Amino acid sequence: MLKNSKAKQLNKLTLQATNLYIKPFLNWYFMEIKFNCNRSGCCCKNIRRHNNFQKDLFDKQNESGPWYNLINPNDLGVVVYSFEKDMLLELAKKNNLKISFSPHNVIIDEEQKKVLVIRYMMDQDTCPFLDKKDMCCIFDSNAFICRLYPLGLDTDQKTRRIHYFGCPGISDSKRKEDNEKVFKTRGSYLTHMVDYFGYDIVTASEMERNVFDKITAVVKYFSDEKNNPYFRAIKKPLTSVRQNLKDFEFIDFHTFIKSNPSFSEDTKKIVTFPSNEEFTTFALSIKKEIEESKEN
Ligand code: SF4
Ligand code: SF4
Repeated sequence: MLKNSKAKQLNKLTLQATNLYIKPFLNWYFMEIKFNCNRSGCCCKNIRRHNNFQKDLFDKQNESGPWYNLINPNDLGVVVYSFEKDMLLELAKKNNLKISFSPHNVIIDEEQKKVLVIRYMMDQDTCPFLDKKDMCCIFDSNAFICRLYPLGLDTDQKTRRIHYFGCPGISDSKRKEDNEKVFKTRGSYLTHMVDYFGYDIVTASEMERNVFDKITAVVKYFSDEKNNPYFRAIKKPLTSVRQNLKDFEFIDFHTFIKSNPSFSEDTKKIVTFPSNEEFTTFALSIKKEIEESKEN
């Protein structure tokens, strides 16, 4: 009897010690290694200085990717899809802010001298939407790149490796290495990423991947002559392409698709920014996928 009550007392003490000392330590430890944005807006100003885009990855994209990158990796700033550019131009106009964009990801029809611009780069090195308190003033409607920062879109469907930007919010090098491992299943990849970066960032990244895959399919369609008489994309070495573009007509990718009679309504829909409803439906589907992968 006495033994039992002593044991209980000891258990109580151990529990108290755990609560007092070990839990705060564990909390601190796990807090420390998670992504922790300092909300200083540092990724929205002096953007080119923070840019650490790898040149070899960039060259690989130019060789084998679905489109050309026109802007050099060191000069890259905020890159947005053509439909996002229009949304940002409208928001800037409403807020009386100056903003401009340059073509970045393009496909080219040399015969017809046309360039379709899939993504643009914001010219400003500090984003005009950053307010005086270093907060984004269009937080609810900003572009994919802003929603998923500091993650970069992983375009490699097989490895699911993660690309990081130089963000002080990712401080733990061990965890970073861990994140860069190849994940065996989509479920474990998603769960891990959500645990580390948070649900919103990972959902935005998955949604962009979804949009990217569909746009890539449309771009591939243009490389086959019999598919489309309006545009024929041919890939050549980038140096010869850059020199030739002076007399070419530059057209927004989404404007072209939307006005082209050969595309279905569904295809036209993929080149517009997802509405809040679509985003919510997508977010719920990702949540379900994660829950199911935890059960299995
Ligand atoms: S660079 Fe990273 S830590 Fe800094 S504001 Fe951006 S997301 Fe947050
Ligand atoms: S839109 Fe907002 S989050 Fe995106 S770069 Fe500009 S200030 Fe930053």
